[in-house]
Amino acid sequence: MNNTLLFATSNEDKVREVREMLAPFKIKVLSLKDIGLSVHHPEDAETFAGNSKIKAEDIAKQCSYAILSDDSGLSIDALGGFPGVHSARFMEGRPYSEKNRALIEMLKDKENRKASYFTVMTFISADRTREVAFEGRNDGEITTTVDDHATGGFGYDPIFYSYDLKKTFGRATPEEKDAVSHRGRAMQKFVAYIEKEGL
Ligand code: IMP
Repeated sequence: MNNTLLFATSNEDKVREVREMLAPFKIKVLSLKDIGLSVHHPEDAETFAGNSKIKAEDIAKQCSYAILSDDSGLSIDALGGFPGVHSARFMEGRPYSEKNRALIEMLKDKENRKASYFTVMTFISADRTREVAFEGRNDGEITTTVDDHATGGFGYDPIFYSYDLKKTFGRATPEEKDAVSHRGRAMQKFVAYIEKEGL
C-alpha cells in the first residue's frame, strides 16, 4: 500500500499536529511546502466543509498523492460565529497576541463567552475514486485575559478554555490537545477510516 499522504495546508502548526497524530501509523506526511504546491482556488466558501473541499480538490488536480485537507477555525457564539471561516484572515499580518486581545475586547460587554473550534478534513484517495469528509469540534469559552502561562498550541489557543480539558489549549501538552481537539477528533475518524479502507 502506498503510505504517503499529502496534507494540503501551508499552516506549519497544523502540519506539526497532524504529523504527531499519524506518527504511530507509518504514514509519511508531506506538506504543500515539501513539494512546492499551493492552493490556487480562493477559499471563498461560507462553511468549513466548503473550504476544506476546495483545498482538497484543488491540490488533487496538481499531484497524484492521496490528499488530506483541513479547514478550521474558532467560532464565538456571542459574535455570531465570528471569526469562523475567517479565522486565518482576521487582522491578517498581525501577531496572535494582538488578535487574541482584540477578540477579548470584542467580548468585554458580553456575558456569553461560549466558543467552539471546528475542523473539516477532506480526504481524497490516490486513485481519486474516494472523497470523504471528517469533522471535529471542541467546545469551550473565551478567557477574560490572554493566558500568560500558555506555551503550547498556536493561534487562538491561549484564549480558548476547553471544557474537556478544564484549561486553555495553550496550557495543554500536545497529547492532551490532540486527544480532544477539533483536529484530533477529525483525525480519529480519519484514522479509523483508513485502517478499514486504506489510503
Ligand atoms: P485555515 O487555514 O483557513 O483553515 O484557517 C485556520 C485558522 O483557524 C488558523 O490560522 C487559526 O487562526 C485558527 N485555528 C484553527 N485551528 C486552530 C488550533 O488548533 N489552534 C488555534 N487556532 C486554530
